[in-house]
Amino acid sequence: MVKKEKRKSKIQGIIYGTAIGDGLGYPTEFKTMDEIFAKWGKDGIQEPEGNPILVTDDTQMGIYTYWAIKDYLEEIGEEKDNPDVLTQHIDKRFREWYHDPENNRAPGMTCLTSIERIMKGNRWQEGTNRNSKGCGANMRVTFLPLFCLRDSGLKFGRLASWVKLQAAITHAHPTALVASELTAIAVYKLATEDWSPETLLKELKRHCRNNGGYYDQRYLGDLWEFSNAESRYTYLERGVEECLAAIERVEQALLTPDYSTDPCLQTGAGWIAEEALATALLCFLLYPDDAVACLRRAANSSGDSDSIACIAGALSGAWLGVKAFPKDWVERIEYGTTFEEMIAYCNITDPEIQRKQSHENQYMAFFDLNAKVSFEGVDIEISEAEIRRLINRGNSFNWHGEGDPTSQLVERTVRFARRKWGAKLPRAKIIEMAAKILRQSPDRIESSLDWTANYMAWHEGGSPEEFHPYPKEKE
Ligand SMILES: [Mg+2]
Repeated sequence: MVKKEKRKSKIQGIIYGTAIGDGLGYPTEFKTMDEIFAKWGKDGIQEPEGNPILVTDDTQMGIYTYWAIKDYLEEIGEEKDNPDVLTQHIDKRFREWYHDPENNRAPGMTCLTSIERIMKGNRWQEGTNRNSKGCGANMRVTFLPLFCLRDSGLKFGRLASWVKLQAAITHAHPTALVASELTAIAVYKLATEDWSPETLLKELKRHCRNNGGYYDQRYLGDLWEFSNAESRYTYLERGVEECLAAIERVEQALLTPDYSTDPCLQTGAGWIAEEALATALLCFLLYPDDAVACLRRAANSSGDSDSIACIAGALSGAWLGVKAFPKDWVERIEYGTTFEEMIAYCNITDPEIQRKQSHENQYMAFFDLNAKVSFEGVDIEISEAEIRRLINRGNSFNWHGEGDPTSQLVERTVRFARRKWGAKLPRAKIIEMAAKILRQSPDRIESSLDWTANYMAWHEGGSPEEFHPYPKEKE
């Protein structure tokens, strides 16, 4: 794994490379080379158009697929597996994509029709397009390696099963599943620099042979039974073969590198998954050190230009980092806010801080940040920073269940308010303030304080009075 700063740049590179490639290829999709040259001149399209630069369904589906995995990890935690829950999250996010008003950028029919059948109540294994290996399956996976690249990242082996599942829900041809895994691992391994442009194709073939055929029954269930395969062990064999053949065509093409004619002539038009990957690999390997040249090569193509360029952009960004793309393009690309959130999510410094932050946010939810008490014409408030400090003081709150502010949280809030205003305010106002901020009644605050006093007296030995956080008689 590369160092942190470099890794951050690669994470950004994957995200922006995907989107910029998609945006550069958007105007050239469905155009022949002659039409491209007629419109943009003899070198074809050079710059992404518009401000913002619009992306297509590739990036949009990529975002929704990324969100599905993120939702899943947030629900069940990083260490557990629950295939049903993962499937529900993917299903939910695909439906949201389907209904997204911005989903008007030539979305693929296979994705739409599969989701429609699932929305009608079919199990996904029945609703999916069994014979489709359209590149919709893998154009949307380039963001998924981010889950392996972030701090406390996943092992790729786990992600691989999820990548195959998300493909299978809309495209159940075995090649769609295998090509999706290969697309994801190529991006991932270039980012970690375990693979380089020199070793990429050899390593991809090795991974394809060793892992491509793995059918994770927990996630895919009985999918194979809807095919002609004899068993789940052989279901993916055809995918492995077709992907190996596609990668071999890239190796052949690179023996006599061609920097000018349509790249689709050598490795395919990219409407199907293994060709979108192969032609993207070709464009990347023609220009492994030049992301802009790679993207231009990919976008100036007769086939599925936006999908080829979005995968090529992810490969380039994974290898070279975000600096490889013109700053102006990065700034102009659509969905910038979403991308910055994704980058922030990937860069939480370490698991301990992450755990603390989620703990902190859980307790923050008890507080009403707008709570105010007035006394003699003055508004008394407590700031968010003060609340965060009081939450983080001392040990964690683990005495009670987590559905209620614990007695410790009440105690700390009261002690804090007393310290801050006790000299100027009557006790009743301090309790009122604590009650408002914790969204409780003053009576509940009092009874929680009494509980603490009794508990401490029992625990430590002594009288409740001496342990009471704010005894009434001292008023
Ligand atoms: Mg598209």
